[in-house]
Amino acid sequence: MILAPAFQRDSRARNLERLRGEAFDVLILGGGINGAGIARDLALRGAKVALVEQRHFASGTSGKNSQLIHGGLRYLKQLQFHLVRESLHERATLLDLAPHLVTPQPFLMPIYGRRARLFYGTGLAMYDLLAGRAKLGRHRVISAAEVAQLEPQLAQEGLTHGAIFYDCRVHSARFVIENIWEAARRGATIVNYARADRAGASVTDLLTGESFPVRAAHLVDATGAWEPGLRLVRGSHIVIPRVNASENAIAYFEESGRIIFVIPWGSTRQLSLAGTTDVDHTGGPDCVHISAEEREYLLRIVDRLFPSARGQEPISTFSSLRPLVPAAGSATRVSREHRIWKDGRGMVHVAGGKYTTYRAMSAEAADLILSAESKTASAPLGGNTAETIHQLLASADALAATHGMTRDEAVLAIRSYGVQAPNVLALLPETPPPGPTRLECAQIAFAVNHEMAESLADLMFVSTYLGYERKWTRESVMPYAEEMGRRLGWDGARTEKEIAQIL
Ligand SMILES: Cc1cc2nc3c(=O)[nH]c(=O)nc-3n(C[C@H](O)[C@H](O)[C@H](O)COP(=O)(O)OP(=O)(O)OC[C@H]3O[C@@H](n4cnc5c(N)ncnc54)[C@H](O)[C@@H]3O)c2cc1C
Repeated sequence: MILAPAFQRDSRARNLERLRGEAFDVLILGGGINGAGIARDLALRGAKVALVEQRHFASGTSGKNSQLIHGGLRYLKQLQFHLVRESLHERATLLDLAPHLVTPQPFLMPIYGRRARLFYGTGLAMYDLLAGRAKLGRHRVISAAEVAQLEPQLAQEGLTHGAIFYDCRVHSARFVIENIWEAARRGATIVNYARADRAGASVTDLLTGESFPVRAAHLVDATGAWEPGLRLVRGSHIVIPRVNASENAIAYFEESGRIIFVIPWGSTRQLSLAGTTDVDHTGGPDCVHISAEEREYLLRIVDRLFPSARGQEPISTFSSLRPLVPAAGSATRVSREHRIWKDGRGMVHVAGGKYTTYRAMSAEAADLILSAESKTASAPLGGNTAETIHQLLASADALAATHGMTRDEAVLAIRSYGVQAPNVLALLPETPPPGPTRLECAQIAFAVNHEMAESLADLMFVSTYLGYERKWTRESVMPYAEEMGRRLGWDGARTEKEIAQIL
């Protein structure tokens, strides 16, 4: 049975009406992973929930991170055992909740020096131990010759060993959308492009400029970096042509003790995502860009690891902010542990934490509002059970043949949309306009009809990561903007404005 999409073309307008006219148990500010997770949790507990997001869902940190569901080796190095154990436990839960979007990812850690082998070997043994039954596979230490065989381009000088260990990767923006959909299916009233005032008393529809009061018994502030008074640390990534040969992501501890990942990335894994940095951010949360120093730093590390790739220019970059629980110390070492509290006016706040632990954090925040037990650990997101995804992937050849597409495209559709993939493929055009592929046209239609996408950036940086995957020019992106604009009724001036925003 095919599950109907959670949103239809008129959902935003209908939800705005409900937001204006009805009273809610809870109003949540912010549609990142924490807001979406809390909305799903409370809706599953039976609360009448509303959520407003000032831009598109996952357009903040939740869609622009390292895309890892992981225990976090660097937290192990900082002796934050509790955080690592909880994260490893959550990793196993999220694999069950969304097996299309959360997938195991092997890592190769190059080890330079015998003392380092002892140090990292012990750390990885501890990582396995903390994972307990949530383990994806035991780490193993391999010889320098085996590393060279796996990664012939990796710098060999001083290399003594390597270690293979396991974590997971995720399309972090689509995973937020899955949580949003699930909350909506359970009755939550969800509106994007709607900004709440800081007191949560009124909302402004940013598409019309109209403001109106909202009525809710409880308020949750999940605005992340937009919450005043938190320390903001910027993390940046660069996207470059694929530098490594094997399917492993590279995990490299550089001299200062920072861990840098070089992860196979992109819709066909033709790219490498390298990051991240940690720099105190002094600008506001609306203006977040990589600095020349961060860019040079990341390129220098890629060059050092893969000397044959020297001279690469990033195809794209992205940056986002960690709102950290204030503490003294260098940006890398500040605690990622979260804080959830009720302020004097009864508003619940969520700060800090990791994407990986969002579900546990959401349950903790929801506990401050409702005493009923959280049900989010066992209900698969949108009916995406491991069995259904397995069946869908097994039918990828047949789907490809039926729809006249490649197997890779069918797999991409299943991996991105899970059980919604047939609904996406139903939107494939007979012949696409010059520019987008047939699948990309279907993704545009699906984003507009079923994800409340209202701008080109929503398509390029949330529904898909196409925006990061190519060096776009006005000419190359124009057909995408026109295809989207055809569905949303944009005139020429609006189309140009949308293009200017993403170049
Ligand atoms: C560079 C980087 C890499 C990371 N990598 C990982 C990783 O690989 N794995 C991991 O587990 N964690 C990672 N993290 C941490 C993780 O991404 C964050 O903890 C998480 O995404 C925070 O989610 P959030 O919902 O709190 O914030 P956000 O995603 O920023 O959401 C807050 C939302 O609130 C909205 N908002 C703000 N003000 C208002 C208002 N007045 N009204 C309505 N809406 C409003 C914003 O538009 C925004 O969408 C990383 C963090 C960074 C910075």
